[in-house]
Amino acid sequence: MRLSARAAETKHGESAVPGGAMRRAQAFLQARLNTLLPTVRIKVVALLCAVGVAIGLVSVVFVLHVYESQIAGRVSERVVAFTDILARASADASSPEEVNTLLRAFRTLPALSVVAIADPSGKIFASTMPDLKGRSINDLGWRDISMRLVESNGKLVRAQVRDTELSEKGSAEFARRADVGFSDSKGIIYVRLNLLPMLELVQATAWGLLVWLVAVIIVAVLVVSLVMQRIVVAPIEALRGFAERRGSGPFAYAEGSNDDIAVIASRLTEAYDATSNNAERLADLAQIDGLTGLNNRAQFRTHLTREIERAQNTDHLVGVMILNLDSFKVINDSLGHDVGDLILQRTADILRGCQRNGDVIARLGADEFGVILTGLSVLEETSDSANRFIRAVGVPFRAGGHELHQTACVGLTVYPQDGRDADVLLKNADLALSRAKHEGSGACVLYRHELHLRAMERNSIERDLRAALAQRQFVLYYQPKVDILTGEIKGAEALIRWMHPERGLVPPDLFIPVAERCGIISDVTRWVMDEACRQNRAWQDMGLAKIGVAVNVSAVDLRRADLTDLVANTLVARGLSPQYLELEVTESMVMRDVDVVIGTLRRLRSLGVGIGIDDFGTGYSSLAYLKRFPVKRLKIDRSFISDIADGRSGMIIPKVIIDLAHALGVEVLAEGVEDMEQLEILRTLGCDEAQGYFLGRPMPAGEFAEFLAQSEGGIHPRTDIRTFVGAVPRLIGDEAPARIDVSGAA
Ligand code: C2E
Ligand code: MG
Ligand code: MG
Repeated sequence: MRLSARAAETKHGESAVPGGAMRRAQAFLQARLNTLLPTVRIKVVALLCAVGVAIGLVSVVFVLHVYESQIAGRVSERVVAFTDILARASADASSPEEVNTLLRAFRTLPALSVVAIADPSGKIFASTMPDLKGRSINDLGWRDISMRLVESNGKLVRAQVRDTELSEKGSAEFARRADVGFSDSKGIIYVRLNLLPMLELVQATAWGLLVWLVAVIIVAVLVVSLVMQRIVVAPIEALRGFAERRGSGPFAYAEGSNDDIAVIASRLTEAYDATSNNAERLADLAQIDGLTGLNNRAQFRTHLTREIERAQNTDHLVGVMILNLDSFKVINDSLGHDVGDLILQRTADILRGCQRNGDVIARLGADEFGVILTGLSVLEETSDSANRFIRAVGVPFRAGGHELHQTACVGLTVYPQDGRDADVLLKNADLALSRAKHEGSGACVLYRHELHLRAMERNSIERDLRAALAQRQFVLYYQPKVDILTGEIKGAEALIRWMHPERGLVPPDLFIPVAERCGIISDVTRWVMDEACRQNRAWQDMGLAKIGVAVNVSAVDLRRADLTDLVANTLVARGLSPQYLELEVTESMVMRDVDVVIGTLRRLRSLGVGIGIDDFGTGYSSLAYLKRFPVKRLKIDRSFISDIADGRSGMIIPKVIIDLAHALGVEVLAEGVEDMEQLEILRTLGCDEAQGYFLGRPMPAGEFAEFLAQSEGGIHPRTDIRTFVGAVPRLIGDEAPARIDVSGAA
């Protein structure tokens, strides 16, 4: 197969060779010509020169040829006439002496070299050279002149051996038969001409003529060149320049002219105009955001690079501000995209309104806008400008029939301290923006180097986290939950710690968000659940008080379809009864995807596992939803407990939460109790349980086992607490806790 394919290829190749070779040669020549003669002007001049030289050569050859043939003809004519005279004189002569006398008269003629007349036997009887007399005529020219004259009938013949060029020998010989008067038979007339003087004269004339001819040709070539230059070359070169400039700049030739080139030029101009208009329109489209008419991200970056270059030689700062609308997705989803578009257009108008001379504004993404603040001299000006933008966006307005209050966050970065090129500044402004988002609506964060360090730290944590599980670097600490009225230890919250080989003990606030982001959290939760259940079972097996252990689950876990399976399997594997396990979910977690979360919580609850809502009071729970959650406990966030002792105002929120929990029929626990006073207030407010450093810090499993072992009858082992709850006799009094009125009626 391969052989035949190759054969076919060869055959095909052979058949293609002649045409192909021609084409290749042509292409080669064309290419050579194009490199040698790059412009039309050189091509035309070269062509005209070649034509001129060719015409000159042909003329020279032609002139020489004409002259030679004319000389030959003229010489023949003269010789015929001359020999006619001699023939007549010979025919009339009565003696050789008469003929000799005539010949003597010709001796002085420079053109006549030798003239001789012979009798029929060939013996010379008269000559211009007397010493030839009596010699044979054949000695002068051809071996046998009489033979050559046999059939001449008295006409002139050439007497040379062969017909040589006249100029070669410088002489020409002729012979003819003639009657001889003093004898009855025919004689021979022989003439040798000296052509040199004549040839020299003729050649001088010819050369003169040639010089004139060449001069005329050169002048003609020059004139034709100039004419060609004016009517062909110059317009073509102008057209070429015009085309190379792609129509930019004037095409002077075309003005007022209507010849072919002008027509081509005007068509080209129209085509270029159309192309550049289209290109400009496309470039505009590529740089402008269609909805708001602002610059887009690419254009913003280009402007930023330019502003940085400008600021390089000055002391001025360049501020880069990224403004992001808060909860824009919610508005889009709830009020529709038309209202969303109106808000974006309004924001663009506000930015235009606040823009100072020289500032650049752009829409960078969906609900993200960028501002380049130029010509700043102090850092404070950037945050002043940013706050001006935030305030302007925050003014309430109406859109699509709705009264709206849109807020925005801003991330700020400044050239040169935060970065020296556009990409770095944009990245840092993004980082500052995510920090601002974290801080809450309306926040403005100026990028600081520490933010970058924190981001770098996050990256290294992410890398190390992957190894941590495998290398058993996680441990659980347990913090007791205590019944406020009885002092009984009701449970423990399992809190994870990371024993990092280099960083030491890493708190969960540092790595849990990173684990959530990089997806390791599921494995972490699985491990925590398993370890907490195992440990609780172990304590029970040791005969310690039976308590519930609470495990924190993250938002990611709550959305896992197999969370219930994981919990059930762990309980079974560790042999722990579900009543001794509680899951803590934060309030903000359960308020997202409420229907999905309620389903998951109900399934967990049906297993017999308790659900606690952590950090309650910070997540803006909807009371309508709260009623539907199958929760066992609300945990009041410690931020409300820390200022619970600051008079009546500090108690209001804890009191409301406690009453709410009781109204919903669920237990309530206060987090972060740090002293006796807080504990007392909580008891008077009717809180069921408390957790905090005052009641016990989070401690390793072994320490917690000791703590449990010391708690006689399950009551907190510390005397002050036992006294507080009345487990030991009171020294001061034993009255029931007084109720505190927070209604303001007092
Ligand atoms: P959390 O669930 O609200 O846990 C209570 C936090 O408050 C714990 O911090 C605890 O040490 C601290 N705390 C307790 N009493 C006091 C007090 O009196 N004063 C003060 N200032 N703080 C007190 P920790 O252990 O650093 O945990 C922080 C957060 O990390 C936890 O808040 C929880 O949301 C999360 N977390 C801890 N362990 C895990 C875990 O295993 N899985 C998941 N997903 N999250 C966990
Ligand atoms: Mg918790
Ligand atoms: Mg909490």
